[in-house]
Amino acid sequence: MKRRNFIKNAALTGAGVAVGSTLLSCADNDTKETKIVATTNNKSQVSLPLVIATWHVEEATAKAWKVLQAGGNALDAVEQGCMVEEANEKGQSVGKGGLPDREGNVTLDACIMDKHGNCGSVVYLQNVTHAVSVARKVMEDTPHVMLAGKGAEQFAYEQGFKKENLLTEASKKAWEAWKIKSEYKPIINIENHDTIGMLAIDKNGDISGACTTSGLAYKMAGRVGDSPIIGSGLFVDNEIGACVATGLGEEVVKTVGSFLVVELMRQGKSPQEACEEAISRIVNKPNSNYKDFQVGYIAVNKQGETGSYSIHQWFSMTKYQDGVNEQIQSDFFNKS
Ligand code: ASP
Repeated sequence: MKRRNFIKNAALTGAGVAVGSTLLSCADNDTKETKIVATTNNKSQVSLPLVIATWHVEEATAKAWKVLQAGGNALDAVEQGCMVEEANEKGQSVGKGGLPDREGNVTLDACIMDKHGNCGSVVYLQNVTHAVSVARKVMEDTPHVMLAGKGAEQFAYEQGFKKENLLTEASKKAWEAWKIKSEYKPIINIENHDTIGMLAIDKNGDISGACTTSGLAYKMAGRVGDSPIIGSGLFVDNEIGACVATGLGEEVVKTVGSFLVVELMRQGKSPQEACEEAISRIVNKPNSNYKDFQVGYIAVNKQGETGSYSIHQWFSMTKYQDGVNEQIQSDFFNKS
């Protein structure tokens, strides 16, 4: 695995002590902070808390880390981390500023899942920037898991979210340029970053995850991808671990990717091995045209071990752990 663009932020440092098979806490003499250490089966030590995210989103992981480091829970951390990218108008694949569908509508998909296995999701949400927070409200304040379209939007307003125009000038210009070519190729860009998916383990060792996206640029009106589909775009099992996906959602849905990764970890695979196996299910299908699209997974297990893998080069994971916020270039399948 190659590493690039290391970002080191001054924060908690110091070694922990592991003497058991689960979670321990100990006082760090220099910082007087409580540091949590998880031991893996082979007794290696992993320091908690930690947060990982798809692509290079250091500001988002920094926000999540701040929540975790202050003793906040993993659910708050992933929500607040994702919100950073949703509000970032320069990011054209998430939240405000996301590229629209072929009709010029920006439509958002998002979901969130907590340590109890509760989940909430919104699909085809328009005019509300923080889709991840609306998904959380669906989880916490309704008897449902998923709200779509106008119903989701109406619910958001009732919850106090404000109506905003999500189509920025830059995204409008890009859409207008695309319309002139009028070419519809639902092929995911292999190099640029897309959905933000985030997984965190807090100081208590509890796991939560979230993901948020504007989906494929210039998709058909009404198209929904993997990102709001529990088990496809995201899955969390607090006993085992969690996974989140990015890339061409249709391929992730067909293989129920994130659930698959978690189940593979349940069977004993490491997060890295599980992500690789889930990618192999896609690329080894008869007649797979994987050369034309990207899919990437990141995963974490209960012990705090992480993994990431994609079909093509240039997928990366951002990881904040032990006071270090770093971008980790993922290994990938297509080396030809
Ligand atoms: N998975 C998202 C979707 O298919 C897009 C992405 O990750 O770029 O909607």
